[in-house]
Amino acid sequence: MAYKLISNDKNARAGLLSINNIEVQTPTFMPVATRGAIKSTPHQYLDKTSILLANAYHLHLRPGAQLINDLGGLHNFMNWDKLILTDSGGFQAWSLPTKLLNDGIEFKNVYDGSFFKMTPEESINTQNLLGSDIAMIFDYLIDYDRSDDDQMKAIEITSQWAEKAKSVHKNNKQDLFGIVQGGLNLDLRETSAKSMIELDFDGYAIGGLAIGETSTERKKVVEHLNSILPLDKPRYVMGLGDTVGLIDLIDSGVDMFDCVWPARLARHGKLITRNSYINIKNHKFMKDEKPIDTNCKCFTCINYSRAYLRHLYVNENTTSWLYLTVHNIIQTEQIIEEARESILNSSFESFKKEFINE
Ligand SMILES: [Zn+2]
Repeated sequence: MAYKLISNDKNARAGLLSINNIEVQTPTFMPVATRGAIKSTPHQYLDKTSILLANAYHLHLRPGAQLINDLGGLHNFMNWDKLILTDSGGFQAWSLPTKLLNDGIEFKNVYDGSFFKMTPEESINTQNLLGSDIAMIFDYLIDYDRSDDDQMKAIEITSQWAEKAKSVHKNNKQDLFGIVQGGLNLDLRETSAKSMIELDFDGYAIGGLAIGETSTERKKVVEHLNSILPLDKPRYVMGLGDTVGLIDLIDSGVDMFDCVWPARLARHGKLITRNSYINIKNHKFMKDEKPIDTNCKCFTCINYSRAYLRHLYVNENTTSWLYLTVHNIIQTEQIIEEARESILNSSFESFKKEFINE
């Protein structure tokens, strides 16, 4: 993989990622297809998306990474010829009932309630079998407000697991990203970042954010890491997806984001209109012939009115999910594209101010 910085406007970066002969303009937003699909939405509708995120924990359990490998790998299985990033299962170790073991995590299987062990090596082997373009190390994530001692322990474990991941990862068609942990403590974040940089990963994720901290706390961590992480590698903040939050961290030099949020929001009838939202269930849209957003170029906004989408949401709910999800994801991607343009034109600062105050 190569990352090329095309232009920067203060800390904000416009770059080009090149992986397996596919180029991705950064900053970029990666929609989440946990089990190889975005709920209710064929990924072929996402014509702006360059990278989809899938999840090793879920695919390992069902249908199984070996089965997907036997069927030609995840790209072939899903019929997606652009890029795939697989998350390692580290996030599920935080969000699901688990037990920390000496050499990995004991997980509860969400599908049948049984228990199974995932080690850092197995996570990499799983991702290798899936054949994603970017694999993530198996990290150890804890709540951001735990004590410094606990955070220290978490970054030590993450660092040991990162070494193991690196030693078993032998797939030259797959990049491997390290993950920086350390909660809100800047010294610990720095220690964690340095241990990842020593292992020389293809890119660096900042984990342990977007799990309840304030945007000011988050920004402090990211700004601090901006001065430490290598300039010639992509930086990825995991799990963040609201448009104001994205612009705020593009400002601090972040190149990649992922989140289930725009899709989940759509299924609740909440639609992103730049830096705010409309609720399509609202009565006032009953006779509204305008698209969700008059400037949006997505399939939904080109073809359907708010009145029709409201009718579907109320009376043909699951059908509405496709249209609403397409809008929320493409709206997010369009805003990131505008941010990139403004970085290239050295006008990011004014774009950001206008966007946030619109
Ligand atoms: Zn739209």
